[in-house]
Amino acid sequence: MAYSYEAPVSQSLFDRASVVTPGGVNSPVRAFRAVGGTPRFMVSGTGPYLTDADGREYVDLVCSWGPMILGHSHPEVIAAVQDAVSRGTSFGTPGEGEVALAEEIVARIEPVEQVRLVSSGTEATMSAIRLARGFTGRAKVVKFAGCYHGHVDALLAAAGSGVATFGLPDTPGVTGATAGDTVVLPYNDLDAVRAAFAAHPGEIACVITEASPGNMGVVPPADGFNAGLKELCAADGALYISDEVMTGFRTSKAGWYGVDGVRPDLMTFGKVMGGGFPAAAFGGRGDVMAHLAPAGPVYQAGTLSGNPVATAAGLAQLRLLDDAAYAKIDAVSAELRSLVGDALTKEGVAHTVSAAGNMFSVFFTDRPVRDYEDAKKQDVFRFTAFFHSMLEQGVYLPPSAFESWFVSTAHDDRAVERIAAALPAAARAASEATA
Ligand code: PLP
Repeated sequence: MAYSYEAPVSQSLFDRASVVTPGGVNSPVRAFRAVGGTPRFMVSGTGPYLTDADGREYVDLVCSWGPMILGHSHPEVIAAVQDAVSRGTSFGTPGEGEVALAEEIVARIEPVEQVRLVSSGTEATMSAIRLARGFTGRAKVVKFAGCYHGHVDALLAAAGSGVATFGLPDTPGVTGATAGDTVVLPYNDLDAVRAAFAAHPGEIACVITEASPGNMGVVPPADGFNAGLKELCAADGALYISDEVMTGFRTSKAGWYGVDGVRPDLMTFGKVMGGGFPAAAFGGRGDVMAHLAPAGPVYQAGTLSGNPVATAAGLAQLRLLDDAAYAKIDAVSAELRSLVGDALTKEGVAHTVSAAGNMFSVFFTDRPVRDYEDAKKQDVFRFTAFFHSMLEQGVYLPPSAFESWFVSTAHDDRAVERIAAALPAAARAASEATA
């Protein structure tokens, strides 16, 4: 595909990066390999806008893959960070900020009786499954195809996100022994979960699922799916782990738990709770969390866990996320979904706008999408054309058909108008695209 626009400064930065960093990026989807073209190197962000190294401004519908729920450079978050930084950046001791952030999480999410802070969503899920194994004395982990839980060895099998984007079946570097303890099942299929428990009675430590998946595109749980998982886990003595790294503090004040009310044994968080800094967490039942060192025998630690700057940013962001903020994000999301759907319908492009709360994505197919196999059947080449037309017109979408789009409280009328103005040409490009 040829692109009628250029980004020379980004291209030269990418050339330099490619010499010193594998593929030129520090996280694979950023490299634009799924859509082609030059990845944009961003230099600043304000509200709903990003500015790249060539001086072009974009309406941002990625929001750093979720964290920037108040938009970029929110003055109160920046002030909290500056205040924290002025007192030092890392002490390697306990501090009040981490207590306050933990209290905020526990207050918002009722099933979380205790929480441990870490630095990334990957660390949170890795630690949660170690704890589940330590608590139950069992080895096997059930996960769902298309769900991404970070690059944890045991959870990379049939993962979504970048693993889906690049069509990687599994990854070299994960040993057979590790992969052998992972049971991968189709999403939204309780019969498959029943069969797995029947095949491995008393062997499954936990079932981990995205509370509502956003890493194969947005594919919400069918009615009763999460409740069914919880029930099957409880019947066998396995733990039900709800991964809310993406949905947590985004789809409501209490994340997806605030939407479906299904009570997990353990939960994982990241993204929004870090306010744009590396802060994440796992938490849940007090009796399970009591197995963590130093209270219990399951080891888990981190030099930068509970970092004072990250916790200040996260706390400032969470405190600004009141009911009015969620109402605003939900309304912007609904408006964008209808604008995107209308534009594609007008051009006769087969599509499904799929939403879970204010998270949404567009599948370029009109067949229902209930799992990863369905998601893969979309016309990805139409997304590619749509993506590049939007980018050319100053709208930054996730550079993959298998990712959620994210909005923020900062997406105001002006930002929505700019997206609306770009949609007709992008829909036309999708309609004219060929495989
Ligand atoms: N879990 C989910 C549901 C995610 O979406 C992600 C990242 O996208 C992770 C875990 C991993 O988080 P991190 O990228 O902070 O390691």
